[in-house]
Amino acid sequence: MDTGEYTFDAIVIGSGISGGWAAKELCEKGLKTLVIERGRMVKHVKDYPTAMLDPWQFKHHNNKTRQMVEDNPIISKHYAFDESTEHFYIRDDLHPYIQEKPFDWIRGYQVGGKSLLWARQTQRWSDYEFEAPKRDGFATDWPIRYADLAPWYSYVEKFIGVSGNRDGLENLPDSEVLPPFEMNAVELHIKDKIKQEFPDRPVIIGRCAHITKPEDIHLRQGRATCMARSLCQRGCPFGAYFSSNASTLPWAEKTGNLTIQPNTVVHSIIYDEKLGRATGVRTVDTITKKETIYNAHIIFVNGSTLNSNLILLNSKSSKFPKGLGNLNSLMGRYIAFHNYRGRITATMEGFEDRYYYGRRPTQVFMPSFRNVYQQETDFLRGYMIAFNASRSSWNKSANGIGQHLKDSLTEAGQWTISMMMQGETVPIYDNHIRLSTTTKDQWGVPLLITSIDYTENDEKLMRDFLREGAAMLEKAGCKNIKTADQKEVGNRNPGLEVHEMGGVRMGSDPDTSLLNKWNQLHHCKNVFVTDGACMTSTGNQNPSLTYMALTARAANYAVEEWQKGNL
Ligand SMILES: Cc1cc2nc3c(=O)[nH]c(=O)nc-3n(C[C@H](O)[C@H](O)[C@H](O)COP(=O)(O)OP(=O)(O)OC[C@H]3O[C@@H](n4cnc5c(N)ncnc54)[C@H](O)[C@@H]3O)c2cc1C
Repeated sequence: MDTGEYTFDAIVIGSGISGGWAAKELCEKGLKTLVIERGRMVKHVKDYPTAMLDPWQFKHHNNKTRQMVEDNPIISKHYAFDESTEHFYIRDDLHPYIQEKPFDWIRGYQVGGKSLLWARQTQRWSDYEFEAPKRDGFATDWPIRYADLAPWYSYVEKFIGVSGNRDGLENLPDSEVLPPFEMNAVELHIKDKIKQEFPDRPVIIGRCAHITKPEDIHLRQGRATCMARSLCQRGCPFGAYFSSNASTLPWAEKTGNLTIQPNTVVHSIIYDEKLGRATGVRTVDTITKKETIYNAHIIFVNGSTLNSNLILLNSKSSKFPKGLGNLNSLMGRYIAFHNYRGRITATMEGFEDRYYYGRRPTQVFMPSFRNVYQQETDFLRGYMIAFNASRSSWNKSANGIGQHLKDSLTEAGQWTISMMMQGETVPIYDNHIRLSTTTKDQWGVPLLITSIDYTENDEKLMRDFLREGAAMLEKAGCKNIKTADQKEVGNRNPGLEVHEMGGVRMGSDPDTSLLNKWNQLHHCKNVFVTDGACMTSTGNQNPSLTYMALTARAANYAVEEWQKGNL
């Protein structure tokens, strides 16, 4: 074990979406910051080997091979996993965990984490989400409200670049936006029909972290306008979508205060009983297995929800035998996620003379309309809907001979509509993770056990979506409307949506929560947890924008407290 004097002002565990933000804020404020990342280095542009490839340049035309699926039975279920992105996902066999109940744990271990892979949808929460646990009597009350986070949402959005409209919706507050992407003719038609038939269900273009018209702050990051190639998950050479690699990490690096230590897994956080605070982290080199201790005054835990839980549960001391700060035994409990089970497809006749050009890296959205102002159904909370209309790329029913055949072959095909749900799940005590007491991974870290499942509430919510979504499409004139429970047809387990949250939740009361309103562990104030692990409830919006805003807010607070000598 190398216990040399590697002392930094701050350590950030993980370099993904939230860790990148912690690093940026801490470095900008002058703190010598060490980012510890278990995965390999991925440099912006240089390490995007598939970014400019055409389908025929892949060995298997960018499909999943049988071998890839056999080697990765979990990861290969994920929609974005293919030959072009394989290198940004983990390999299942190298990173085992124990599924007490089926859970699809989707991970990307590299510098940049899942920020390279994400679909970039960025919607703010409103007080309808922050007040939900208190109003509906579940989980515990959030210690913050929208007003606490609103300036930090703005702060983050201006830096990352968010395209969209200012839609003026109460339960989806406006963002700081760059010009929006456009809806196509069929989407506009569906939007108009829904407005006529269901006036309380606005349809908007999805807000996404893409630069559509760069501002000075984006140019200074070296980022440029989105080309709408929609090959984002391979890494964007233009830096047009937000990733840690294109944005926060190089920005932090420019301050001269950043050190990135890749290929290094954090085993646990070290707690000093006499000092009453954490002093550093115990790490293992993923290649040589050499153990090293790094010290710091402030520690940010940003390993992504389940890994952050794992690290904290594994940080045992005589004061905290069940994990750092875990005096109430609630760490690892109340894990929740987003319910993606319902899916609807349909076709639209007509509009054969209407085309669209290029690709669009976002979808059409409908904010939650269920139980917003009051409880009105036999299930709690609601769901956001996302859909798109597209034409298949050529006319598969082309017929005739000669010129007629050629002409009809070049015509775009039928309009089809695909609609999905993003439902809030209610955190329950039973949905939990814990550490194996018998099995460790190759770096000596106990395996994680996942015990997380859907509830009856989730099923009712899904059935409501299938009913309401189909009704809306029918009113819009769609045909061949088909509804499906993805759990039944596609073996869709919790986790596959990659929005797992909780386990180290925020709250005002140390008896019922782990973190205070500044994301500090109640019982170890120099440790901050600002990724999905901190989430008290899940809302129905995509979560990463909220992680970023919480991280920026917490990092600025940490620096202030440190400068006052309180940490
Ligand atoms: C295909 C896809 C689409 C998505 N679409 C969206 C979307 O549209 N909108 C949205 O809001 N979210 C989306 N998400 C989810 C989003 O990617 C995550 O919410 C986000 O990346 C979480 O940020 P994070 O910093 O917590 O974790 P990550 O970005 O995963 O970063 C965590 C980092 O910590 C490292 N790490 C873990 N454990 C350790 C350890 N012990 N020691 C050292 N390092 C460690 C990991 O290697 C990783 O690099 C999507 C995800 C995927 C995969």
